[in-house]
Amino acid sequence: MIEFRDVTKVYGSNDTHALENVNIKIEDGEFVFIVGSSGAGKSTFLKLIMHEEKPTSGEVIVNGYASTKMKKRQVPYYRRTMGIVFQDFRIIPKMSVYDNVAFAMRVIGTKEKEIRKRVPYILQLVGLSQKARSMPNELSGGEQQRVSLARALVNNPDLIIADEPTGNVDPEMSHEIVELLTKINNSGTTVVMVTHEHDLVRTFQRRVIVIQKGKVVSDTPDPTFAKFK
Ligand code: ADP
Ligand code: ADP
Repeated sequence: MIEFRDVTKVYGSNDTHALENVNIKIEDGEFVFIVGSSGAGKSTFLKLIMHEEKPTSGEVIVNGYASTKMKKRQVPYYRRTMGIVFQDFRIIPKMSVYDNVAFAMRVIGTKEKEIRKRVPYILQLVGLSQKARSMPNELSGGEQQRVSLARALVNNPDLIIADEPTGNVDPEMSHEIVELLTKINNSGTTVVMVTHEHDLVRTFQRRVIVIQKGKVVSDTPDPTFAKFK
């Protein structure tokens, strides 16, 4: 579960109130769209979940880890419980598709035997089995984003954080990316996705949190989520 308890974030360098008194709970297994105009505080919201930034006041608790209590050395372990997808993919240009995904497992010390089983399974899940040996510069934008999604998924995270994952792909592929995230969510993974695309939000009908000028101005529950049925 993700919980924001009266969270305010002020960036010291310019005294910007990026978030103000945010109170939000996201249950395990939810799929949440975070929307709002540029500068509203969406990335800050995600950074607080990732513990990339600390709240100025209040507390963020994610899967039992509280921002007020976490030690610096715990952060890398904490991050491993989540998969992160960025708008600009951030895949490694000099590694094949297979190795980009395998790398995420290698850095946490997974045995090669397990990697050889897991990576093909995940590549199949995202529809990239035929591209395992391709290099990133041989892929379309949508394919690169699916590599990044595969990498986020391969270690079986409890939570996927996606920061405008469809920002650099065409509308059809955007739809496919969100379908994939839905599939992952159906197997129990919580998904928190920032987006600008109203079409996606309308089409997929999940929980929608609207942030404006650092405040949560609306929060519409997911009509399909069990707890709200
Ligand atoms: P969004 O993701 O919705 O575009 P952000 O969370 O990136 O919004 O930004 C919210 C506000 O905080 C903006 O006014 C932005 O300029 C400011 N901000 C974001 N990051 C920093 C930072 N590292 N230092 C200073 N101000 C920042
Ligand atoms: P889309 O517009 O659907 O994102 P593209 O038209 O860019 O996709 O690419 C279509 C197909 O061509 C993809 O399967 C991709 O792997 C392949 N492709 C694109 N660019 C290159 C390239 N520079 N070298 C090899 N294959 C490429």
